Amino acid sequence: MSASMAEDIVIGGISIPPGKRKRVGIQIAKLYDYTEMTIPVEVVRGKMDGPVLFVSAAIHGDEINGTEAIKRLLARRTVLSAIRGTLIAVPIINIFGFHQNTRYLPDRRDLNRCFPGSMLGSLGGQIAHIFMTEIVEKCTHGIDLHTGSIHRTNLPQIRASTDDPETKRLALAFGVPVVLNSNLRDGSLRQAAADKNICMLLFEGGEALRYEEKVIRSAIRGIISIMNAIGMVDQEKINFRKRKKEVFIARSSHWIRAPHSGSLRVTKGLGARVKKEETLGVISDTFGQGKIKVRARVTGIVIGINNLPLVNSGDALFHIATFEDSKAVVERVEYFDEMLE
Ligand SMILES: [Zn+2]
Repeated sequence: MSASMAEDIVIGGISIPPGKRKRVGIQIAKLYDYTEMTIPVEVVRGKMDGPVLFVSAAIHGDEINGTEAIKRLLARRTVLSAIRGTLIAVPIINIFGFHQNTRYLPDRRDLNRCFPGSMLGSLGGQIAHIFMTEIVEKCTHGIDLHTGSIHRTNLPQIRASTDDPETKRLALAFGVPVVLNSNLRDGSLRQAAADKNICMLLFEGGEALRYEEKVIRSAIRGIISIMNAIGMVDQEKINFRKRKKEVFIARSSHWIRAPHSGSLRVTKGLGARVKKEETLGVISDTFGQGKIKVRARVTGIVIGINNLPLVNSGDALFHIATFEDSKAVVERVEYFDEMLE
């Protein structure tokens, strides 16, 4: 990266010169009563030229751990005053869903299936298009923060296309113990970013509609680690303690579904290692009769779990990831959890 002075960046019609920090509202739509809906964005620019990183959250409006993580990141003055390049922070993309505590848009669409979008498309398509042109296309890198969907918790994990060497390097640099090599989904922000050659990671952690301290901390640590890995900050200079980062890429993952309807008692929690045929939970009727065991198909780690005890036959209950050495993974997961205390 050349150490030359950077040029102005224009977002939402506002010009942000190098060395400045500005809050911008990107107009996306109006409500029925003509209330203006804007996506709030904060742009932090170093004096020197460098990478342009967007960090976004709540593309699913109820996934708010990331919103809190971005808020706290923006308070880390030591980090932000030391950056080369530009940080574009977008704590809430799906502003409609955020207000309603829901994943979706008012027309029940999933915004993360509306990319790259178009101005002639649905509301989701229009927001996606504006987000692409105003933010994503001006960036070199991106991190999008998610949580499990409602009533589900995810172990902090990175989802990325690890077939791409640079994306793989960054997926490992983020520092959470588990990485899932996940295929790009049609219509997702990640696919649209990849089509524009922007290196993007997706972070998953915790549950919808909650602030979870450890998840928030792991997201902030991960973002700063990425800023270091792409040359935006120098960890040595910002008082950011380097820690051992042992990261494991899952071989594959699958969901174990309820074999029967009833109420579920979980016996293997998030982050646990399970062996083939081992009991993950027990489903019974309201009187505790007719107990049916939910079993693991293969040895692996529980990386996602359903929190709602009332289950229908076929409901996804346990997300299991398989690894070459699941013992090493579970040790790392436990250590990582303690480290975040
Ligand atoms: Zn999500």
